[in-house]
Amino acid sequence: MEQPTTRRRFLQGATAGTVGMILEGSNVVSAGALGSIRIEEPFHGAVLNRRHGKEVDGSLEIRVSGQASLRDQVTVNGLPAQREGTRFTSEVTIRQKETEIIAASDGSFGRQEHRIRVVCDRHSKPRYRFSIDDNSFFLRDIAQKQYASLFDCFYLKNLRDLHSKHGTRFVLNIYYATKDGFELPEFPERYKSEWQDNSDWLKLAFHAYANEPDRPYQYTPASQLITDLNKVAEQIIRFAGEQTYSPPTVIHWGMVQPTALKPLFECGVRVLSGYFSRVNSGWDVNYLLDDARSEYLSRHDALMDFDSGIVFSKVDIVCNSTPIDRIVPTLEPLTKDPNQAEIMDIFTHEQYFWPFYSNYIPDHFQRLETAIRWVTEQGYKPVFFHEGFLGALE
Ligand SMILES: [Zn+2]
Repeated sequence: MEQPTTRRRFLQGATAGTVGMILEGSNVVSAGALGSIRIEEPFHGAVLNRRHGKEVDGSLEIRVSGQASLRDQVTVNGLPAQREGTRFTSEVTIRQKETEIIAASDGSFGRQEHRIRVVCDRHSKPRYRFSIDDNSFFLRDIAQKQYASLFDCFYLKNLRDLHSKHGTRFVLNIYYATKDGFELPEFPERYKSEWQDNSDWLKLAFHAYANEPDRPYQYTPASQLITDLNKVAEQIIRFAGEQTYSPPTVIHWGMVQPTALKPLFECGVRVLSGYFSRVNSGWDVNYLLDDARSEYLSRHDALMDFDSGIVFSKVDIVCNSTPIDRIVPTLEPLTKDPNQAEIMDIFTHEQYFWPFYSNYIPDHFQRLETAIRWVTEQGYKPVFFHEGFLGALE
């Protein structure tokens, strides 16, 4: 049933105003008409590097832009902004790792402010991180076969070959248990010194308790996630030593409760990678971030969540779902986009390496090598995200 016209107009107006207040960080509503001021760029939580501005004496000059009422005087961090219709722009120099940007307006609605914070990736360099999810089969294999060396297992041998050739660092995100009953406490300590000797390029991290169920932490209390994390961490340290341990960098299915983020930070987590991919009803594999931030991450390398202190990273390629001839065409456009060029988050899953797995991919290692060789040729350096800021050492 149609509503009377005047009532409908009123509701539309009210809705537009409400959206403007609720969707922090989104660009859907032009603020000018309502008298509020908002910074549109940079985005709250943006991770900025030299590609986003001009480097001057160790600081970064960036442009801040947004919308304010046509009649208002606007300042940005205390300096008058340039106006062009409802738009304002201003140059801001960023010197600290974290900088607050305050846009303020004075006008008929009184003084209004919009504050955001941005992070400067001060020691930024083109870099890549290689993370492999869903690991458990190789640990079971080594425990069962009792090899003389870890690298008698073909999986670790092939990873070591890639490391020897290209310097690649790998973080393997592992489970506590496999479906057939193998559990980490069964993994022997006899390889500990070998793990330690290779810990400069090979790390182990918690991923989940087990492969099943799907999305194990999406609706699970944070306490269960942290219990599982600690169980796996304790085992990694027992059989592979502290040096081999990495805080988690991807949680299985990339979904946790928002209340889990602070406890994860307290467990050493600094970066979480996800797909931030659009699905019919919203966004997925996005750690349940809101739509505005998920959309932003779908086309940017990284975003800081100040509430938890965790930086989210966008996975750039999933090798097991990218055929060899699609690998370079997937990565190359990213190197041309200043928002995605600095950090390559390269990713795959363990199960596809194993011939007994139903979806075994015979050329999986060649896919890895194609991606690694290409980013290496483009000048990207291998890093671990938990070292320095997203792998850039401070
Ligand atoms: Zn997973």
